[in-house]
Amino acid sequence: MFAVGLTGGIGSGKSFVAERFAARGVPIVDTDAIAHRITAPHGLAMPAIARAFGASFVAPDGSLDRPRMRALVFSDETARHRLEAITHPLIRTETEREWQQAHGPYVIIVVPLLVESGAWKTRVNRVLVVDCSVETQIARVIQRNGFTREQVLAIIARQATREARIAAADDVIVNDDLPRDVFDARIDELHHLYTSSAGR
Ligand code: ADP
Repeated sequence: MFAVGLTGGIGSGKSFVAERFAARGVPIVDTDAIAHRITAPHGLAMPAIARAFGASFVAPDGSLDRPRMRALVFSDETARHRLEAITHPLIRTETEREWQQAHGPYVIIVVPLLVESGAWKTRVNRVLVVDCSVETQIARVIQRNGFTREQVLAIIARQATREARIAAADDVIVNDDLPRDVFDARIDELHHLYTSSAGR
């Protein structure tokens, strides 16, 4: 099925935009949700994580001990690669599976690090970037997660720049505080473009 890769920086509004497409009947595959699910209680990645890192990284309910793992991979690059070597292939196969099972005019695959990681860029038929100013990102993430300005800036610094993302985009949706009708009209325009592209 024709697939649109949806990406953007933290707080750009990826989930917000995805929901607007879902409301138009487009199935959404969310790679972040899949990453979370495979490390939930007895998730697909948990046996390999327990083998590679030890039982101390598994919480009593069988899920990943996230604070512990976060602390480890923050300071240890090798551990981060080891974790990703387990999770990335599983995320890929689960995403492919949901993509194959999806019903709709086309599918939207939400991939936060699409530009940074590269592989998805070639798999999807089109790349849609949600773009907004850094100040908008900061304000939204402070509001949503209660982070400090410095914490948000540190996350943004590790992600692709706006320019790099836009260079990789087929389509861009501007998601600063636009009037609602302008925003909705852009979603409709893209929805028609993707529906007709998928039908060819
Ligand atoms: P991302 O998934 O890219 O991290 P979200 O979609 O969660 O970002 O958006 C971050 C926050 O900003 C959320 O609380 C969301 O509801 C809000 N938001 C995003 N875009 C808009 C918009 N156009 N109008 C109002 N609120 C928005």
